[in-house]
Amino acid sequence: MQLVSVERAHEYSSCLPAEPQQQSPQPPPSWPRCGSVEFRRVVLVYREGLPKALDDVSLAVRGGEKVGIVGRTGSGKSSLFAALFRTAEVNGGRILLDGLDVAGVGLRQLRSRLAIVPQDPFVFSGTVRENLDPCGRHRDRQLLEVLNQCHLGPAVDAMGGLDAELLHRGRTFSLGQRQLLCLARALLTEAQVLCVDEATASVDRQTDRLLQKTIAERFRHRTVLTIAHRINTVMDCDRVLVMHAGKVVDFDTPAALRRKDGSLFRRLLGGEADRDASTPAGEQTPSPDVHV
Ligand code: ATP
Ligand code: MG
Repeated sequence: MQLVSVERAHEYSSCLPAEPQQQSPQPPPSWPRCGSVEFRRVVLVYREGLPKALDDVSLAVRGGEKVGIVGRTGSGKSSLFAALFRTAEVNGGRILLDGLDVAGVGLRQLRSRLAIVPQDPFVFSGTVRENLDPCGRHRDRQLLEVLNQCHLGPAVDAMGGLDAELLHRGRTFSLGQRQLLCLARALLTEAQVLCVDEATASVDRQTDRLLQKTIAERFRHRTVLTIAHRINTVMDCDRVLVMHAGKVVDFDTPAALRRKDGSLFRRLLGGEADRDASTPAGEQTPSPDVHV
């Protein structure tokens, strides 16, 4: 297995085409100041011959807005983030972050100004500290605070604290705990835009609610794009973006979408919307997974 790692490292370093080098001129250090995100007629095809993962997507998110993203599996939700972070280069259209086309920004700069909690939580083999703060920018107090906010404090304590080793890329943590660790890492950044991809898929409802609160508090004035699982998350957003087959089918306030007859959003909620709305916080009925 270790030899395969060496083989893979060799392949990655010598055979894969490199991502583009730094572009110039570089964006100002304060960019993006307000965190507005605009997609203009964006088309994304992962490989030749495959269907369009994003098909003529246009949308504008205001700085500081909280947007929930829903849609069936394979509808292109994660691809929106892939295009924004340029882990996949778009085949057409433009993406503007505070009015600046991300295609012209160096990848290191671009990605350092955004934060993501990916669908597949990324954890390195290394210490908790290295995972949270790979560049060593933060004090222990800040790291412990953010771990507590993400409800990981007791688990990390039990392992031996910030210098405890996470073996096998964090497999000693459950999937939910790894997602929480990625969220903690994102909360530590100064990024103006936070992208959360189903971060709470494997987290129980009680923890999920507390996490939503943490995100709302720490990112109150910043933009948050959340690929949402549960009705409550979506209902608390300023607007909901509904994706279908790579296209935007709706983008409006949750209340407006819910009223809209025959909307995909209503169908995704499967009639749960009306019931949930009339149920007070702390409801007993489980919400459906709105993305499926
Ligand atoms: P889910 O709810 O299952 O996470 P999604 O809405 O996030 O789905 P995407 O991951 O954006 O969907 O996928 C959109 C389409 O692009 C799908 O048809 C998927 O198979 C395809 N796709 C996604 N990532 C890749 C990739 N790296 N290479 C090739 N095709 C991909
Ligand atoms: Mg996805």
